[in-house]
Amino acid sequence: MRVGVLALQGDFREHVAMVASLGVEGIEVRTPDDLASIDALIIPGGESTTIGRLATMFGLIEPIRERAHDGMPILGTCAGMIFLASDAVGHHQPQLGLLDATVERNAFGRQVDSFEADLAVAGLKEPMHAVFIRAPWIEKVGGDVEVLAAVTGTDGREHPVLVRQGRILAAAFHPELTDDNRLHAMLMGLVEENLVEENR
Ligand code: GLN
Repeated sequence: MRVGVLALQGDFREHVAMVASLGVEGIEVRTPDDLASIDALIIPGGESTTIGRLATMFGLIEPIRERAHDGMPILGTCAGMIFLASDAVGHHQPQLGLLDATVERNAFGRQVDSFEADLAVAGLKEPMHAVFIRAPWIEKVGGDVEVLAAVTGTDGREHPVLVRQGRILAAAFHPELTDDNRLHAMLMGLVEENLVEENR
């Protein structure tokens, strides 16, 4: 199995290291050719407008959409989640539209720019320690999106911060900055599911 990490901007190296910690080869992805050689893609945190612009320049938007439509699993974290979504409140920026969700960028505001929390995650026994850095939250999800974890925002309402839609996983936080590789393992589980289906 080869897991690609979109390596245009942001903390892709940490994701490659986390993939390696699970004994799987991590590939830095910058071109459509790189994309053709992988079984799953991780889109890292960073700055979502920059990632979107660079992905447009490198001709990666359509190839990523095509691979996703063919069933390739994708994990997006923080800026990666924003890039995967269909809409961002108040922003016009390149987005893949593979996750039926509206995100609010920098949602937690200045006062709590960055924080950490232990999240209860659907399907996991132990909570997940989550690091949020100028993080988005999800404002609205479509009917096919499963909410795996949520936090109470500064507006007093619950907001999804970990979701799944088919083979797309998106987290508002940075699992690659902890030593918890369960989300990466979940992504690899989706690859195995995909391979079983292809061979049917
Ligand atoms: N604030 C960034 C954005 O809106 C995301 C931050 C991150 O990825 N840590 O793109």
